[in-house]
Amino acid sequence: MVESETLSPTANEALVKVALAGVNFIDVYHRRGQYPLPLPSGIGLEGIGEIVSIGKAGGDFKVGDRVFWTSALGSYAQYVNVPIDQLTVIKPELQLTNEQLLPLLLQGMTAHYLVNSSYQVTGEDTVLVTAAAGGVGQLVVQLLKDKGATVIACASNSNRAQYAKNLGADFVGIYDQIASLVAEVTKGLGVDVVYDSVGKDYFDVCLATLKDNGMYVLCGAASGPVPPLDLGRLSTKSLAIRRPTLGSYARTQDDRIARLEDLTNLIRAGKLKYPSAKAFPMDKTKEAHDLIESRTYSGKIAIDPWL
Ligand code: NDP
Repeated sequence: MVESETLSPTANEALVKVALAGVNFIDVYHRRGQYPLPLPSGIGLEGIGEIVSIGKAGGDFKVGDRVFWTSALGSYAQYVNVPIDQLTVIKPELQLTNEQLLPLLLQGMTAHYLVNSSYQVTGEDTVLVTAAAGGVGQLVVQLLKDKGATVIACASNSNRAQYAKNLGADFVGIYDQIASLVAEVTKGLGVDVVYDSVGKDYFDVCLATLKDNGMYVLCGAASGPVPPLDLGRLSTKSLAIRRPTLGSYARTQDDRIARLEDLTNLIRAGKLKYPSAKAFPMDKTKEAHDLIESRTYSGKIAIDPWL
């Protein structure tokens, strides 16, 4: 933790006083150097806060606006300059505290685009979800159930699998059971789509669970990147693979607002439940990272830089 001068925003930025920053797995990759950053560098990408000054190209934003963002490096700090095109004004009608709202940002909008846009799930689909007790996974499971899909959810141990079951998953198991569970539930036919956040460790197993014309969606790579693939492997069942990213599905403020509104309507209808964010002070950032890496916690982890 270091003290540094607050830099004025450039023309295309706003200076934001951070109220709550999100801790995400990508921050761990940054800290470890798996995704190298130019050093010295701040850490953290996501947050909620209040605009305190705006660059010349500030558009419709005003000083005092309550805003969120998911892609501004250095967000664990008390102040951060956020590119204007990354900012979204939080409408007062949302009526969510920072702790309630934070899990709906990177994770909530990701879960939303995964089931609505990267593949459009219907009630006819049978879907396999890995890392189903994680932040994205637990929301994906509930959004899938809202669409009437049949959900097979997997996690690393039976407690975490049970967590997904309690959220509505129809069938649950641990990763080593993926192949047998899918074969049993689908009577050998396979699933329509896989949402896989684990990556390397179970890629081959997940790909093999798909039915003809099925789609494998690589949402994240918590166990490491999937090695290069011979596209010929897709031909026997005409499979498709997608490697989506939130940036492409929430490019504009309107996209982000629409996804958030959908999510908050589901919350109000009692169809989407999740724990509020757990906030750590800045000098306990190591504990926050230890917790996310421990794979024992299912809620959103946050840094409150003013605690
Ligand atoms: P969480 O930390 O909440 O969940 C990740 C889960 O991955 C863990 O809880 C763990 O559950 C599982 N996991 C499996 N293997 C490992 C491993 N080797 N090390 C650590 N965890 C492992 O993260 P999120 O839900 O926020 O994110 C899930 C994934 O999605 C991440 O990889 C993240 O980078 C990615 N992501 C992708 C986005 C996109 O647009 N494509 C946007 C946001 C996140 P268990 O122990 O049950 O296996």
